Amino acid sequence: MYSRMLVLRFPKTEVEKPIVCYLASDFDLTFNILKATILPRKEGVMVLELSGRRKDFNKGVQYLKERGVQVQAVGQDIKRNTIKCTHCGACTAVCPTGALSIERPEMTVVFNHKKCSVCELCVPACPPRAMEIRTTGNTILK
Ligand code: SF4
Ligand code: SF4
Repeated sequence: MYSRMLVLRFPKTEVEKPIVCYLASDFDLTFNILKATILPRKEGVMVLELSGRRKDFNKGVQYLKERGVQVQAVGQDIKRNTIKCTHCGACTAVCPTGALSIERPEMTVVFNHKKCSVCELCVPACPPRAMEIRTTGNTILK
């Protein structure tokens, strides 16, 4: 499952159309709308979390762009709160990239930020919630 927070900017010709609904019906994606506004000049802005298979996600974004919608990904990053971390190791079982691993013989958990894909699987897996999501800025998806 791939998931990203997106900011969508709709041209005024498309504001009234149910474009986002097609992401579910035609691309098998799920979305959670966090905010939707129509600006004074009638352009629409929507912030939503879009989830699904990576291939479907890319097709859905392509569809939006073909309809004239500007798609920005809200940049996210993962940080480990070293004060909260108890080195229990639970996160290493879910991390798909090896960014979190157990160092032996000390049995401490190390976080290699360079290997992190920001999949967020470690966030709910961590009992004391030591893996934290940070917002880093927006990028226009091309
Ligand atoms: S699951 Fe949380 S507390 Fe446990 S090692 Fe990973 S980051 Fe630390
Ligand atoms: S966000 Fe994903 S890749 Fe990064 S440390 Fe957590 S589980 Fe591993």
